[in-house]
Amino acid sequence: MMKGKKGIVFGVANQRSIAWGIASKLMENGAEVAFSYMGERLKGNLEKLLADKPNAKMYDCDCSDESQIQRVADQYKADFGTCDFVVHAIAFADKSYLEGDFLPTPKDVFLQAMDVSAYSLVSITRSFRPFMNRGCSILALTYLGSERVVQNYNVMGVAKAALEACVRYLASDLGPHGIRVNAISAGPVNTLAARGISDFTHLLKIHRRVAPLRENTTPEHAGGAGLFLLSDLSFGMTGEIMYVDGGYNVTAVGNLDAYNLSADSKD
Ligand code: NAD
Repeated sequence: MMKGKKGIVFGVANQRSIAWGIASKLMENGAEVAFSYMGERLKGNLEKLLADKPNAKMYDCDCSDESQIQRVADQYKADFGTCDFVVHAIAFADKSYLEGDFLPTPKDVFLQAMDVSAYSLVSITRSFRPFMNRGCSILALTYLGSERVVQNYNVMGVAKAALEACVRYLASDLGPHGIRVNAISAGPVNTLAARGISDFTHLLKIHRRVAPLRENTTPEHAGGAGLFLLSDLSFGMTGEIMYVDGGYNVTAVGNLDAYNLSADSKD
């Protein structure tokens, strides 16, 4: 499905990363994949994951620094010439504010979450745009906490709302050039980033009790949908937020057994 296509994946931290689920599917399907990681420690993880691909290109990048994004774009262009896909699977917020109320969130924490988790998509897209082929597909990762309140998700929910709006505006800008921009809204996955959210294991438990498919989302689930969105199979789709969450988003009151109602003494 991806034979002859080449592109870059931002955000593999380890084998549990959603980005790794997507990159694995891309490589299995014949894509040539370059990687961007943040810092030496994560480079070591990537090198282990790519042990059977010693020639894979990897670029260090802190995406809060636009000059580093531009440097990666320049390095990528020198190595590959053109680009058929970009995966943005990066997010950050100070975990002290991923618990309790949203109201106390300080301005610097708010702006940093927005910068790394939303603006970086704009910045990466702009830097790679000059050498994107017609048919290029860009993919970001989001979560339902952008649209509805998920306790403790707080400032990340606001940043994801901004990210989703960026997807739509970028899709509108780039559509006339045959470049598509979409996002996957994944259900909770137990990753490094997710473990920064307070009580995250409760979220996982609620999800697998309530979601119609009664299971947790995995990087492989996101990988399958990512492959579709990055391949030509989805050539009629842009500006879309596609749910890969076992159907959780369609439920209001789901499986009643999930709520332990008989234990509530007030009824
Ligand atoms: P992860 O920890 O595996 O990946 C997060 C990545 O963001 C890491 O590789 C980290 O290095 C990178 N990152 C953070 N700050 C950065 C910076 N300044 N510059 C460059 N990279 C930076 O976790 P994940 O859950 O796989 O996250 C990938 C994406 O999926 C994120 O956008 C996340 O919000 C989204 N997502 C996650 C879940 C979930 O439950 N895990 C659900 C829906 C969406």
